[in-house]
Amino acid sequence: MLTILNAIELSADYLQKKGVDSARINAELILADILNCKRMDLYLKFDQPLSEEETNNYREFIKRRGQREPLQYITGSVEFYGLNFIVNDNVLIPRPETELLVEEIINNFTKEEELRILDVGAGSGNISISLAKHLPNCKIISIDKSKNAIEVANKNALNNNINGQIDFREIDFNNFPKGEFRQFNIIVSNPPYITLQEYSSLEAELINYEPKEALTDFNDGLTFYKSITEKSKDMLQKKGKLFFEIGHGQSAEIRKIMEMNNFTNIKIIKDYQNIDRVIYGELE
Ligand code: GLN
Repeated sequence: MLTILNAIELSADYLQKKGVDSARINAELILADILNCKRMDLYLKFDQPLSEEETNNYREFIKRRGQREPLQYITGSVEFYGLNFIVNDNVLIPRPETELLVEEIINNFTKEEELRILDVGAGSGNISISLAKHLPNCKIISIDKSKNAIEVANKNALNNNINGQIDFREIDFNNFPKGEFRQFNIIVSNPPYITLQEYSSLEAELINYEPKEALTDFNDGLTFYKSITEKSKDMLQKKGKLFFEIGHGQSAEIRKIMEMNNFTNIKIIKDYQNIDRVIYGELE
């Protein structure tokens, strides 16, 4: 019979051979998920034996991770902005950098404001749901062209007790009606920004498992910045703000796109690796 420590050591070794980064932490997180405890709790019970069922489940999960399936799809959840989100391979896994985008929006507005927000590319719903939690008077329309993504986003809203604050809609941004002239205070998007060329050099976890159309625009990475910025001019109120997450090396070009479309007071925020990661501006 395997103890917790034996199981972790064996699988860490296996995952490392399969080229998984941070193999031991992955092994521990997967076991913690199976045992329904925190990773650190494992350290208090290293000598505890695993049951046959636990061992079999663990073996199955480790095998999947060894095939480079992302940890978050295996455990089925991820933490983002202090909230829990379910994920599957229909949605991009929320990244820590995107928390900076959410934080920037929250810092620019107050809880009292009755904001109208449009989120383009809802995915798991992580951006909209975190905003709804921290800006209690906002109303959000959150769109995604993927029906399966909208399903995940709706589940996440329910799990996080969001009641009626977010309207998730299955629609492509290009078909989204401009509607009532200038209705939004905020438009936010973390669009697919990886160039087609960069895409082929990404890690196996991304290429083989995450939705391709959530990562790349199959072009130069700028397609969505152009279309969203142009259309936002007609959808934002005067002094409304447009917030984007951006990719490595894109800030200068995206600033230009925004300036050409009458956005001013443009600010760029760096991520933990000192890479320009968030850009936003105000409509003149
Ligand atoms: N941040 C993601 C990555 O680095 C990309 C997300 C996106 O294209 N919006 O993999």
